[in-house]
Amino acid sequence: MYEEVQAATSTPTAIGRGILHATNLERVVQALAFYGPCTQAELSRAVGLSRAGMHMIVHELAETGRLEILPGPTKRDTTIKLVANSGRYIVLDLGHRSVHGRLVDFSRKASYDLAETITGGQHHAHDLAAIGRVVNGLTKQAGIELEAVDNVVVTLHAPIDAGGIVSPSSITPDWAGLNPREIISSYLDKDVIVENDANAAAIAEWAWGAGRGSNCFVYVKTSQGVGAGIVLNGQVFRGATGIAGEIGHIVVEPHGPLCNCGNRGCLSAVASGQAILAQFDLIHDAPSSLHELVDRALANNPVASRVIAEAGHHLGVALAHVIAILGPDRVAIGGEFARVGKPHLDAIQATVAERTVQAVSVATTITHGLIEDSPSLMGGLLLAMRTKNQALSVIPDWIGQGGKKPSGRKPKGGANRKK
Ligand SMILES: [Zn+2]
Repeated sequence: MYEEVQAATSTPTAIGRGILHATNLERVVQALAFYGPCTQAELSRAVGLSRAGMHMIVHELAETGRLEILPGPTKRDTTIKLVANSGRYIVLDLGHRSVHGRLVDFSRKASYDLAETITGGQHHAHDLAAIGRVVNGLTKQAGIELEAVDNVVVTLHAPIDAGGIVSPSSITPDWAGLNPREIISSYLDKDVIVENDANAAAIAEWAWGAGRGSNCFVYVKTSQGVGAGIVLNGQVFRGATGIAGEIGHIVVEPHGPLCNCGNRGCLSAVASGQAILAQFDLIHDAPSSLHELVDRALANNPVASRVIAEAGHHLGVALAHVIAILGPDRVAIGGEFARVGKPHLDAIQATVAERTVQAVSVATTITHGLIEDSPSLMGGLLLAMRTKNQALSVIPDWIGQGGKKPSGRKPKGGANRKK
């Protein structure tokens, strides 16, 4: 349950009252972020505030534009949700072959999308050039200067350690050993926040998707690589190293293929999109991309179905360890493999059930992620908003591809096969 701090009952001084009021205000915001839209009575119960106290806070938040009151058929049905009516943010998802960017302008309720292919060889300078093109294109579309943007968040498909350095085990070798925050900030001449893409997607799913209301949530992104994010009490858990939750390097086949990290049989080396496509090198009619492989599995192609079921089994082996240690109430699977649907999820669930004690596995629900439109970008947006103490109970329909049509090129559905 959400941590409930009881309101103090002693007679406070004026300063004390101010602090208490600010604390209660933040608790209301946190509860709304945690539970999503709810009625005032539900909110009072969750936060432990009197009706009168809650009424005052709700109206104060509504007046400052942080909250919207939606009338229902009766007064009891009035729903409250967090909104934002100011702030401009750019979020960028730096993938292996493309950069997908989104500019969200809350003051105008407008959102712009643009994607650029990364051209040139494997060097981070090419990624920077694509980032520059996306940022220029987005600010041009919105008719604003970069200085007018409150925050820029970049999500990177690589683990980033506590010192901000990309781990050498990453499948993006052009950033390994470098500090992307420093490099991108200096390139754009603007301070940016850098986050691992799975962590960002995890925080978005926690806020608006499959992890809503969970205090111990694990999100696994299964695409070209395999990454995971752990969200404990609404915060990404990073451990002492900064890269906790790096599920891709749990060994699932001790005598399996070599991994970038130097071990053998890591989940990444066995069941990532990159690893699976490499297995097709020896057979004819290989799929040209992960997207195509998933399409074939959806069309019941036996080879594609087999490798995807095996990938589900291997992910289940790794997840069994995570679930046994952490005991999450919810696990969500996202990324390209999740598109396969039930057969992939069944394989994961069966292996987890086989390899964990029942008392643990029954307490964990394993589902697919719910955010279809760029969960990493949406998580980046939430991180950007948090820097201004903002949050949203639901994703407004004008953000992203559900709203204004993206005017740029969309990235291809799956990363192309690396040859
Ligand atoms: Zn490894």
